[in-house]
Amino acid sequence: MKKTIQKIPPTDFTIVDEILSTLREGHSFLLSGHQNPDGDVIGSELAMASLIRRLDPRKKVDILNCGPVPKSVAFLPGADQIGNVKKVEGKYDVVMVFECSGADRMGGIIDFESQAVRVINVDHHLHNPNFGHINFVEPTTSSTGELIYKIIERSGLEVDLDEAVCMFTAMVTDTGWFRYGNTNEQTLQIASRLLAAGVPVADLSERVYLSKTETALRLLAWVLSNMTLHFDKRVALLTIPEQTFKDLGARPDDLEEVVNQGLQIESVVASVLLKERKGVGVKASIRSKGDWDINKVARVFGGGGHKNASGCQVNQELDEAKVSMLRELEKLFQPG
Ligand code: 5GP
Repeated sequence: MKKTIQKIPPTDFTIVDEILSTLREGHSFLLSGHQNPDGDVIGSELAMASLIRRLDPRKKVDILNCGPVPKSVAFLPGADQIGNVKKVEGKYDVVMVFECSGADRMGGIIDFESQAVRVINVDHHLHNPNFGHINFVEPTTSSTGELIYKIIERSGLEVDLDEAVCMFTAMVTDTGWFRYGNTNEQTLQIASRLLAAGVPVADLSERVYLSKTETALRLLAWVLSNMTLHFDKRVALLTIPEQTFKDLGARPDDLEEVVNQGLQIESVVASVLLKERKGVGVKASIRSKGDWDINKVARVFGGGGHKNASGCQVNQELDEAKVSMLRELEKLFQPG
């Protein structure tokens, strides 16, 4: 087993202080994240909204995303207040954006120029282009939830239980319950402080992981029985045609965790899930083990993410997208 000691650069608290003074000064806030938000986006938004309201209950705080709240985190306190929109109306003093490389990644729901006085960009992804007026970007941090913890802690207010549950959920959903390589010493220190604030771990894990629909399991069964293996069984390719998805009556969040299943095979080091969206192309989710950097592959298609978990949009029909994806994977797994 390889020893890994990750050097964690210190947080730049001048940025956190600038965020806090912007939160104190603003009157209207929009919190938003990437399209088809995940547990990290939702948990971070809810914890941040709670902090802003505690700073001053008169502040107007809206949470709007392009895409619904995933069923697995819909139990979080306040999740029923989160809007799913195609377009944001009006202008806000502060727009705080989680886990995005820019307005495009938010599904184009807002125009920063005309609808935001200040943009705060909070992210833990590699290659974030620092598009905000304030950029709190730490790629060595496990999740955006961890960054929100740093902001709340710095505010001098004690983390309340609802905030702790939201941030813990953000952290566990992005780290696969602290199993992935983005889990480090700091992640567990913060997690332990959230436990000290009263997070009910067993209850939370049941709600997040043992609450799938019957359809989700039937969809998984279909996907796994149609899986193909490539490059000496090192790559698992999983696909979902639009028609199958419709016939099963599936919803986007029935796909959560499906891509990870390919990695269960010992020889497999990368797993790809291609989901057809007729007329829009194909959404690709890519996961890998160890040092295999599949972010390189996602970036070829204009996507992003992390070394071991990335995604992209392939603007082709499903069969063509399979060929294009395998061609890029071949460069990584069978070079020359
Ligand atoms: P997922 O496969 O679960 O959608 O995403 C895995 C990771 O890749 C997440 O960190 C997500 O933010 C990122 N990601 C997924 N799709 C895209 C995309 O189209 N563009 C960018 N920049 N990142 C993506």
